[in-house]
Amino acid sequence: MSGTNASVAERARAVFTPNVAPAPLALARGEGCRVWDVEGRVYLDAISGIAVSALGHGHPGLAAAIKDQAERLLHTSNLFLNEPSVELAERITEVCFADRVFFCNSGAEANESALKLARRYHWSRKRPEKNRIVTFRGGFHGRTYGALAATAQPKYHAGFAPMPEGFDPIDFGDLEQLERVVGPTTAAVLVEPTQGEGGVNVPPEGFLRSIREVTDAHDSLLIVDEVQTGFGRTGRMFAHQYDDVVPDIMCMAKGIAAGLPLGGIAARAEVAEALVPGTHNTTYSGNPLACRGGLIVMETLLKPGFLEGIRARGDQLRTGLAALGGSLFADVRGRGLLLGAELSDHAPVTAKQIVEACRARGALVHVAGPSVLRLAPPLILTASEAEELLQIMRLALVDLGVAPRA
Ligand code: PLP
Repeated sequence: MSGTNASVAERARAVFTPNVAPAPLALARGEGCRVWDVEGRVYLDAISGIAVSALGHGHPGLAAAIKDQAERLLHTSNLFLNEPSVELAERITEVCFADRVFFCNSGAEANESALKLARRYHWSRKRPEKNRIVTFRGGFHGRTYGALAATAQPKYHAGFAPMPEGFDPIDFGDLEQLERVVGPTTAAVLVEPTQGEGGVNVPPEGFLRSIREVTDAHDSLLIVDEVQTGFGRTGRMFAHQYDDVVPDIMCMAKGIAAGLPLGGIAARAEVAEALVPGTHNTTYSGNPLACRGGLIVMETLLKPGFLEGIRARGDQLRTGLAALGGSLFADVRGRGLLLGAELSDHAPVTAKQIVEACRARGALVHVAGPSVLRLAPPLILTASEAEELLQIMRLALVDLGVAPRA
């Protein structure tokens, strides 16, 4: 393997389905918060493979655990038990509301599992009419059919009709609509504590608590999709913990195993009971290799001061970003190390142009929707790396002619 970025991109175009359009950049290796492309150029990673590589790259503890587990046992299926999966479920239930965990492989699959559990829960309580799911416009829950139907963004649905039925989208943060739409047929409200893909939208203070009150009033469930926000990303173990609410089901993936494909749901025991044997599964559930990765993530997140450090880095980046572009950004928002900078209406550049200019200067950032620049660096980002990132971004804005040279 000795390609250039351009040659790998050309080969990729020839063999991959065209549904994703990656940057013409082939990454070869990484260390800490830096990655190197096949031509040896180095980049500061401020997107972590879309909020996944929480421990950065080449993490020695994670690499050692993977090697050890790969040499012992890679796969069992859930025909049999394996200790790493049991231990990871124990760790997760120790740090949140949940008593039971089901592991799968991705965020979309976690959402599928949560939707099935919510409907099955009401069905098993002899109220099958309670099967509708209230969702939020701008939300994102994945690309499989159930998760896609829950994703109330028409652009993702185009050409894929008919969608599964039973979803009632409302505006994010709108209490009046919530009270009007949640009713006797509502199985659950599905919400991201902060919308990630939809633009890093933090809901108004107390919104999750209001959802809890409304769902309680109608015997409906509260599902929090923490696929992007969970496992320390926002500076708390889980983002719903900022609002002090007790959900019924939580969707997990992305940072849970810092780069190994793992997802899952965590639920209150009384709700989880509905998934009786035979109702739901996947061959890879509780894969020991992925779960060993998850254990290293938990061990790291639980180190004294680690979550505080994420909040401090987030504050540093948010303040720095707001100062960067003068009036270029209308809003800089987010929590911990999930940050969005929304371009003002009259901005002379697009978020995509900023992403490309940053890449040319040696930093990887991403967008969240057409006009929001998104940062989600590894959770191990240091203060000096955060400063370096802001410097690179400033130079990128200078290159684009939207920040002063000095
Ligand atoms: N839920 C949320 C909140 C997400 O941000 C994503 C992915 O971005 C998903 C679900 C889907 O996860 P996956 O891409 O692992 O299927």
